[in-house]
Amino acid sequence: MGFLKRIFGSAPALDLNQLATSQTLGEYAQVHLLAQFDPPRPLDTPAVRQRWSRVLPQSYDETVALLTKLGWLAQQGENYGTTAAAAAPVAAYRDRLLKERDEVMPRVRQALKAKDTSEALEIRRTYEARLPLGKADWTGPEPQMSHSALTRRILLTNHWLLDGLSPQTADWLRFYAAEQHLWGAGWQPSENELPAALGDELAAQGMVGMPPVEAAYWKARQLSLQAENHETWLRCKGGDHVRRIKLVGPDDEYTCESCRALLGKEYLVARTPELPHRSCTSPRGCRCVYEPVLESFDEQQQKV
Ligand SMILES: [Zn+2]
Repeated sequence: MGFLKRIFGSAPALDLNQLATSQTLGEYAQVHLLAQFDPPRPLDTPAVRQRWSRVLPQSYDETVALLTKLGWLAQQGENYGTTAAAAAPVAAYRDRLLKERDEVMPRVRQALKAKDTSEALEIRRTYEARLPLGKADWTGPEPQMSHSALTRRILLTNHWLLDGLSPQTADWLRFYAAEQHLWGAGWQPSENELPAALGDELAAQGMVGMPPVEAAYWKARQLSLQAENHETWLRCKGGDHVRRIKLVGPDDEYTCESCRALLGKEYLVARTPELPHRSCTSPRGCRCVYEPVLESFDEQQQKV
């Protein structure tokens, strides 16, 4: 292998601590990749390897060979795992990721407080662009065109889901839901963040049998689902390619009978029932989702 010869022939040995603190993407990406193998796991699929190869100084396979040769990565059957020699730098790199996360989240929060959701999304994008695969392990999928507009709608919503709640609780839920939507991620708040009355208010709405932090999570989830569903419906209504919408969603112990009865059903766009279902009795709230039904090629031909 010419590459390994090149590396071990004349190049100075790589310093893992230096790579872990480097500000150059190609350098810290190698530690980022190394950290993926703690705990041990198999190598990535060819498609993922290709994405890594674009940011690493050499290809994915060459990097794995190099990290193994240097004694930081070891093959164990089908898996690869980091070695004791790599433990400290990998831990330092993880601390760094946590620190960067703790720095960026308040900045996004500030932009959301100012109702500037485009700025908030820009901060997220800049943060993610510095990560090797363009996303953090805790953030959601690549935001769509309408993402920050949707976050803004959640931030300003007066949906009936908030009916009966005190202004303080409603405001808090809007903000919390908007923040989660912005990141495309869900997390439970810590108890001391909750408005004092939130637990009782949500329990009065039927969100019972769970701690207030969990009720807050599901209520916020309902708010963002509502915004996303409404957006999907508008898109289907405005486009030519979708005539029908299907109701999909989780079918588990928390699914109520009224939602379950409609799961999998298809409707013409104009006749699609409103989501969330007002009849839903689940303590987690309605989790049903609109799914555009793509017409087959034949059907599209007939329309022309
Ligand atoms: Zn339901």
